[in-house]
Amino acid sequence: MRIPLIAGNWKMFKNPDQTRSFVKQVKDQLPDAKQVETVIAAPAVDLEALINSAQGSFLKPAAENCYFEDEGAFTGETSPKVLAEMGVKYVVIGHSERREYFHETGEDVNKKAHQIFKNGMIPIICVGESLEIREKGETQSWVENQVKEAIKDLDADQVSNLVIAYEPIWAIGTGKTATADQAEEVCAHIRQVIANLYQEEVAEQTRVLYGGSVKPNNVKELMAKSNIDGGLVGGASLEPESFLQLAHYQD
Ligand code: PGA
Repeated sequence: MRIPLIAGNWKMFKNPDQTRSFVKQVKDQLPDAKQVETVIAAPAVDLEALINSAQGSFLKPAAENCYFEDEGAFTGETSPKVLAEMGVKYVVIGHSERREYFHETGEDVNKKAHQIFKNGMIPIICVGESLEIREKGETQSWVENQVKEAIKDLDADQVSNLVIAYEPIWAIGTGKTATADQAEEVCAHIRQVIANLYQEEVAEQTRVLYGGSVKPNNVKELMAKSNIDGGLVGGASLEPESFLQLAHYQD
């Protein structure tokens, strides 16, 4: 059985004090991680504050990016090895903002996924199409290629543990959510791609999230879909109240 996952993506918002204050307000009110897993992906500069303040709670810390080498002369990059040593559990990779503004390629995403697993963490791999691709009717093949590139040469055990977040670019930060049916259609396709590459049993374990203007008022409808296992949430994860509402979507 796949445990639902509500993951906040803070992007480049909040400082360490704001991070501590957020965690203090949510930490005792989160659902049991066996029912709904909750994750916050925070900027690297806030991770220490996040990890320390979330100690003893169900909240799991995630990084928003990392490099694909553990150490070396890579000025400005973040080591996956050090993230793991700090207590980070998940790393978001391939977010459309990173692909677009920082030229992260499918090959980079794949190398990062391998290195994240090597360090005992789990990648949250983002994929998704632009409006132009959707309007050309090429969403499924675009997303399929991104998934195949990202998981290349990972073993079945790794693929069953990783998380894929389907985030249509036109729905991110725009208030324009994909309909639950549109989201489900692509999430189901992602699961089918994994089933074809690995096995049905592997695909049945991989968690597939939807992201793009997920809010407390639409989360229930999205989560009711059989291939949507959670949400990657930007804007609505910044306030303790809305993050808690998302985490308690089942109540
Ligand atoms: P949004 O962001 O919820 O603000 O649309 C989602 C994301 O970029 O992960």
